[in-house]
Amino acid sequence: KSSLITMTAFAAVAVLGLSGCAAESAPAGSTRACVILPDADSGTRWEPGDRPALEKGLAEAGFEADIQNAQNDPAKYATISDAQLTKGCGVMLLVDLQGAGVAVAEKAKAAGVPVIAYDRPIAGADYYVSFDNETVGALQGQMIVDGLAAAGKDIKTASIIYGSGDPTDGNAKMFLDGALGVLDAAGAKAAFTMEGTWDGAKAGTLFEQAFTAVKGKVDAVLAPNDNNAASIIQVLDKNGLTVPVSGQDASIAGLQNVLLGKQYGTVYKPFTLEVAKALEVIKAIFAGETYPTTKSNDGVPFVTIDPISITADTVKDVVAAGDATVEALCTAEV
Ligand code: BGC
Repeated sequence: KSSLITMTAFAAVAVLGLSGCAAESAPAGSTRACVILPDADSGTRWEPGDRPALEKGLAEAGFEADIQNAQNDPAKYATISDAQLTKGCGVMLLVDLQGAGVAVAEKAKAAGVPVIAYDRPIAGADYYVSFDNETVGALQGQMIVDGLAAAGKDIKTASIIYGSGDPTDGNAKMFLDGALGVLDAAGAKAAFTMEGTWDGAKAGTLFEQAFTAVKGKVDAVLAPNDNNAASIIQVLDKNGLTVPVSGQDASIAGLQNVLLGKQYGTVYKPFTLEVAKALEVIKAIFAGETYPTTKSNDGVPFVTIDPISITADTVKDVVAAGDATVEALCTAEV
């Protein structure tokens, strides 16, 4: 642990081209990892999922972690980042919030601090570490294809409502592109396209409107994540309908809906894998090496992790991996 700290401070000097070559001249706070999470209401993500995984991973790698949450407020995001940079950061891991990450990445880089766009893309970051988000979308599209087939419905004539995530999150487009690739190829057509959002409550309202627009004829719903799916399922429930709905995040509520047959599947993206990948990249940066990538996004090298599709028969895999407990699945409210 201590050798990494020494190496980190030293390498920061070497890699960032700061004057001098002794560890003493490394920027103050070079062993501090400054992290900004976007919100605290995304189901399993960010606070309950990513934060503990980041705390553990960063501590094991010898970093002092400073993890803050912008609570859905881009202005707060900027304030947090200024305070973090003033105190000193050896590296920043930013989960973008409505584009607020771009200005922060610029400031960080001007201060010689390497930036990892964690999970969501940020133009100008050194690396973007996430799951292969087009594949996430493709897995969601496949859930609709498989769910309709299992229900004995012809996808070409099925009434499908298309939902998507917040368009200010670069991931949302990748999820949708991936899903459309599969759905278009299968001959599916949108009966109604909802406005994109990550806000679960808003997704419920938007789905009510969609439901009215299609006069209650719904055969399937492309939902971008479990949080949206849960609100959509509430509306379907109220109207006595059970149809294939996609999701993402393997949240407890999502997994419960999958087990109850109300959601066809979810996409499991283990936090521990994402954090481990980010740490590999950080180590490469500090060692002055280029982390190998085969993709890029907006000119930012994109380090991808493979997502896992989960249906009712594989929910047990999430339990076996330690990311859900039987107790939580059996007792928490859906
Ligand atoms: C993440 C998803 C998450 C969504 C809402 C996306 O950028 O990749 O896992 O459900 O944001 O927080």
